[in-house]
Amino acid sequence: MAASLLPRRRTPLVRVGGVAIGAAAPVVVQSMTNTDTADIEATVAQVAELAHAGSELVRVTVNNEAAARAVPSIRERLAAQGIEVPLVGDFHYNGHALLAKYPACAEALAKLRINPGNVGAGARRDTQFADIVELACETGKPVRIGVNWGSLDQTVLARLMDENATRATPLLAGEVMREALVVSALESAGQAERLGLPADRIVLSAKVSTVQDLIAVYRELARRCEYPLHLGLTEAGMGSKGIVASTAALAVLLQEGIGDTLRVSLTPEPGGSRAREVVVAQEILQTLGLRAFAPMVTACPGCGRTTSTFFQELAARVQRHVREQMPRWREHCDGVENMTLAVMGCIVNGPGESRHANIGISLPGAGESPATPVFIDGHKTVTLRGGDIASEFIALVDDYVAKRYARKSA
Ligand code: SF4
Repeated sequence: MAASLLPRRRTPLVRVGGVAIGAAAPVVVQSMTNTDTADIEATVAQVAELAHAGSELVRVTVNNEAAARAVPSIRERLAAQGIEVPLVGDFHYNGHALLAKYPACAEALAKLRINPGNVGAGARRDTQFADIVELACETGKPVRIGVNWGSLDQTVLARLMDENATRATPLLAGEVMREALVVSALESAGQAERLGLPADRIVLSAKVSTVQDLIAVYRELARRCEYPLHLGLTEAGMGSKGIVASTAALAVLLQEGIGDTLRVSLTPEPGGSRAREVVVAQEILQTLGLRAFAPMVTACPGCGRTTSTFFQELAARVQRHVREQMPRWREHCDGVENMTLAVMGCIVNGPGESRHANIGISLPGAGESPATPVFIDGHKTVTLRGGDIASEFIALVDDYVAKRYARKSA
């Protein structure tokens, strides 16, 4: 794993199953299933898919009795497949009742997520919140107090609105809303500590769906508490919009040392893989230099000097190959996730960029002789010609991995 040069905010270390969040631990990648949790087979399959993609925690909704009953079976079936990824239970409205009625559900979960805005209304809010926190204390589970502006605690918001109305210079409505998110998270965390939950079993989040609000809210949370923070732009959206918005928000915060775990909340394309959100989260962390998960392929965008789509196809094939090989490489290699590759379209930047990579290939552009030099560790080593350049280059990549990163037997 690449060591981060960015300073991190100081927090306690929270252990979630075998995963550490906060303090000096690497920023943790999370995801969430979108299957019906009561559908054990579908949920096990999706958790496995997310875990294989690299999700280090997987959250499942526990929204009714059937879901609560299913959680222990999901945990068992995953264990039978050798998948130990910790499961986080997402509770709204009825969490206190489900956890009390199904203790095996609580036992199978590594962390409980509570939304203070959805834990109960009026006088019941405090007792139902207390029921869940007390259960977490008894079972030794950590809790994420996850505030969301779509379900903000209306009591907190109304109180802050009233206070604001008495100010000589009232804040704007948006500023009060942001403050209400922060206050809701901090007051709920304080309440949990007074109920006996140690600070090193609390993670906070306060998600909104606009970039500037998210940055402002998390900066304020980071300034006012030491709990580890779970980052995420809620309802980020589909495709490039969701990826760009999430990256814009999370990169700013991570660059400032804020954030101990994250999820990228992408809406999958119809029929698309849920695991996309895991890959995007990893790529955010890797491109910031905070962690390394899989070799990165540098490719030029192509231009009028590019002679065909071969260059794009090769870049895509190499990227796919390293992702597919990564589970096997991870078992047999050390440090391969830090490898860099380059697939370039012509002589203008091709040789230079390829020399910067561990292994790079510079395809011939328009008007160049049909020769394809390959650079390894900065040196031109071989020139490929003919019709099977893609397979030959991939074979060179595999050979490089075997020679450079193969784990030495003890
Ligand atoms: S490396 Fe060559 S083909 Fe690629 S963008 Fe630059 S000039 Fe165009």
